[in-house]
Amino acid sequence: MAYDPNNIFAKILRGEIPAKTVHEDEWALAFHDINPQAPVHVLVIPKRPYVSLDDFTSHASDEEITGFWRAVGEVARRLGLAESGYRILANHGANAHQEVPHFHVHIFGGRPLGPMLVRPRG
Ligand code: AMP
Repeated sequence: MAYDPNNIFAKILRGEIPAKTVHEDEWALAFHDINPQAPVHVLVIPKRPYVSLDDFTSHASDEEITGFWRAVGEVARRLGLAESGYRILANHGANAHQEVPHFHVHIFGGRPLGPMLVRPRG
């Protein structure tokens, strides 16, 4: 899948639409999710254009991958979640219901998060 430069996170990176930023460095931008699923719900995205984790791990440099994942840990610490605990999640593709085609890691925290996956009904 080709990267769509008009996806919503590309627009946030270009400053075309606002975001509630919690961290920015050379490799990553972190901002609050617009529709939070937990008391703390922050998204961390790489600065460069990757569709998903699959694209990122296939094509990003080692330096970029290291910088990105260090930023994820740093953001969680800065949000005060390292002690109480948190969950990270990244959706790739249709079965995972990925909505925005720019790689992002969700950080959830601020309360006990329950079982890992919602079980299908029936
Ligand atoms: P995913 O299903 O993993 O692609 O998740 C996309 C996430 O992006 C959802 O949790 C949305 O609530 C969130 N989202 C969509 N638009 C925005 C926006 N403009 N600012 C912040 N978060 C957004």
